[in-house]
Amino acid sequence: MTDTPYRPNGGRHHVVVVGAGFGGLNTVQKLKNADVEITLIDKKNHHLFQPMLYQVATGMISAGEVAPSTRQLLRDQDNVHFVNAEVTDINLADQTVTAEQDEFSRTYAYDSLVVAAGSGQSYFGNDHFAEFAPGMKTLDDALELRSRIISAFEKAELTDDPAERERLLTFIIVGAGPTGVELTGQIAELANRTLNDVYSNYGTTSAKIYLLDGAPQVLPPFGKRLGRKAQRTLEKEGVQVHLNAMVTDVTADTVTYKDMKTEEETTLTGATKIWSAGVAASPLGKMVAEQAGVEADRAGRVSVNEDLTVGEHNNVYMVGDMISLNRLPGLAQVAIQGGAHVAKLIQAKVDEESTANEKEAFDYFDKGSMAIVKRFNAVVKLGKTEFGGFAGWVAWLGLHLTYVIGLRSRLAVLVNWATNILSRDRGNLEITTQQRIARNIINKNEK
Ligand SMILES: Cc1cc2nc3c(=O)[nH]c(=O)nc-3n(C[C@H](O)[C@H](O)[C@H](O)COP(=O)(O)OP(=O)(O)OC[C@H]3O[C@@H](n4cnc5c(N)ncnc54)[C@H](O)[C@@H]3O)c2cc1C
Repeated sequence: MTDTPYRPNGGRHHVVVVGAGFGGLNTVQKLKNADVEITLIDKKNHHLFQPMLYQVATGMISAGEVAPSTRQLLRDQDNVHFVNAEVTDINLADQTVTAEQDEFSRTYAYDSLVVAAGSGQSYFGNDHFAEFAPGMKTLDDALELRSRIISAFEKAELTDDPAERERLLTFIIVGAGPTGVELTGQIAELANRTLNDVYSNYGTTSAKIYLLDGAPQVLPPFGKRLGRKAQRTLEKEGVQVHLNAMVTDVTADTVTYKDMKTEEETTLTGATKIWSAGVAASPLGKMVAEQAGVEADRAGRVSVNEDLTVGEHNNVYMVGDMISLNRLPGLAQVAIQGGAHVAKLIQAKVDEESTANEKEAFDYFDKGSMAIVKRFNAVVKLGKTEFGGFAGWVAWLGLHLTYVIGLRSRLAVLVNWATNILSRDRGNLEITTQQRIARNIINKNEK
């Protein structure tokens, strides 16, 4: 531990970036040729491509394919120093950031600060649901979910009790946004196709899959038509979709929801419960907002200025899922474009010859949204253009493949997808002993 805040030698403008996700990494990469020294701090050692996390959770692809090492990604960028530690304090008055990892702790002095720490799962004040219904925000979450899903199928093979088998083969997903729909579709495919015929004592098609949401439609951001299309597709796969269904309780074995129209309460019993119903910005948002005297909304998103600075602090920027500005959605493109915008402003600030506007407003360009519903079927919304089915699926695969980082990972993803299309098999259904033992201990504690 050092008392004097760390600052790189050489006296160049020091930019501290918190978070190596979409927003932070893009800021750093766009500053490659700027006359600055960058310290990039992330509690994870990898850059996570969250949109394909559901494929890790359901054994389609391996973890490394969506989580390249941040250090290797930045190997050729000389003006960045990566720190794998968790930011525990930001002090706007002193212009410092403190990061810790086990016995390591260091405070960094900044000239410009970019906070891009993203968001976590929100249980809307019911944090105790998390123990029984984990969300999927990190690689750990996805691997944990995979272990829960595959363990449920494995345990169903070991019991002769029909009620216990039904409990084990019931999957309840809360939240019918893109993540919930994609996960539901993949669990249905595991049951109906991939794992069908591989167990001796039962058929996996007997699995019951429920998708619940308090909203009146599936995939609200995609509009009614695509929402209905996605719902029909899932229902054809045997998924029971319950809308206007507000979850009121989650226990080790049950999910209770209230029908918002009839007020009737229903309790479903199922071993595997997954939460994909809400997000909350990193607590670092609230920490910065309080010091800057600006508002953070109920989801912890910080009201930033049009140029993505925070309050009166011209050298403090925030990007991505943490911001509240002009109702921008929590999407990768908002973070990517925000990161590029902030890099441009910092570059304009440090380049004495630059005539660029250092206070230029962030102008987001909506490139549309897409979600896979099942094999050969996705929904796509590009402005007023909406389409679905096979064309949507091809568009989804093509676009997401271009975002996978590195030729090796891209090829590996392609091989995994092709294997699944041609043979039903998935190459990443393993549960490690470590995961199985941890899961058994968690199960015992949950009872
Ligand atoms: C399962 C899932 C599926 C998604 N699918 C899509 C999709 O299909 N299309 C789409 O556009 N968007 C999708 N999103 C949303 C998209 O991933 C986010 O909008 C985007 O990642 C936000 O970027 P960000 O930089 O703000 O945060 P992130 O990319 O989440 O990065 C935040 C980084 O900050 C780090 N961090 C957090 N706290 C600290 C701390 N205290 N100290 C140090 N480091 C810290 C984290 O480790 C992380 O690396 C999905 C999200 C999820 C979870």
